[in-house]
Order: sequence, then C-alpha cells, then structure tokens
Amino acid sequence: MANKRFIHCPYCGGKLIRTIIDQRHREHCPQCDHVVYMNPLPVVSCLLFDDKGRILLVLRKNEPYQGMWCLPMGFAEVDEHIEDAALRELEEETGVKGRIVRLLDAESTDDSHYGHLLILAYVAERVGGEVQAGDDAANAAFFPLDQLPPLAFAANETAINKYTSLRGSKLV
Ligand SMILES: [Zn+2]
Repeated sequence: MANKRFIHCPYCGGKLIRTIIDQRHREHCPQCDHVVYMNPLPVVSCLLFDDKGRILLVLRKNEPYQGMWCLPMGFAEVDEHIEDAALRELEEETGVKGRIVRLLDAESTDDSHYGHLLILAYVAERVGGEVQAGDDAANAAFFPLDQLPPLAFAANETAINKYTSLRGSKLV
C-alpha cells in the first residue's frame, strides 16, 4: 500500500500525467487541472498511566501487526479535532475515557503497510471508564515501563522513551 500512485483523477476520471510541480514529481490531471498532492496521514496515539506508573497498551486484533502491542492509536477523521481523535481512539480501543494533558511527540515514519504517517503522541489521563478491549484491540493492559513487550511501531517506542527521559522534569 505504501507509495501507491493514482492512475485516474479522483474528480473527473481523466488519466493523470506525472509532472514536476514545486520541484517534486506529482500526478496532474490535464482535463480539470487537479494536482494530486500526496501527504502523510495523521495518526494519533495516547500515553496513559495507572497509579502505579504503568502504561496502557493494546494488543492488535487485526493485520497489520496482528498480535503485537502498541499504544492506543488510530487515524484522525477529517472533521474532528486532533485531540478529540486521540481520545476517541483511546476510548474505542481501551474503554478508558481520557483527557489530554499535553502533546508529547511527533514522528514522521514510512510504514511498510500504511505508507507515510505523521504519528502524534499525547499524554492523557483517565477521567472515567473501565479498561476493556474494544474495536480492533484484542486486549488492553497496563505494563511497567521496564517490562514492555515489542511494539508494532517504532514511533511508539520513541514517544515512550521521550516520556521517560522527560519524567520528573515537570515537562510531562
Ligand atoms: Zn481531473
């Protein structure tokens, strides 16, 4: 799926032509003048801890990365605020209702399945709900930071490491 190219214009169906616009190769529709700009997909993730300092992870029920753990995360919808997207994914996958504490990290990554992603990581705190796996999560559980399972996304590890390094500095 990564780096797929459009063949036809999504607006008029005309055949796209590869051309250089703004110093980059882009697909252009000569019929309606539409340019297909390819941009990274925004993904939101949440770091949420219990009162023992353990972090909430979800076990992925579906491919890709089925059977691997990751932060509660998912794609933002086009009409929702990015923080609402993070909290929605948190609740859908773990049952936990949360509140955003702060933006922690932003990572660009080229995922072999999803293509180019912009993965934002928020620190969140629980305001309600009970931990219960839902949506595309097979399980949801808290892990001590020094006993994490292998994670599906390197960006998750980067965010967790950043949290660990900043902890105690009053920045998180
Ligand atoms: Zn067109």
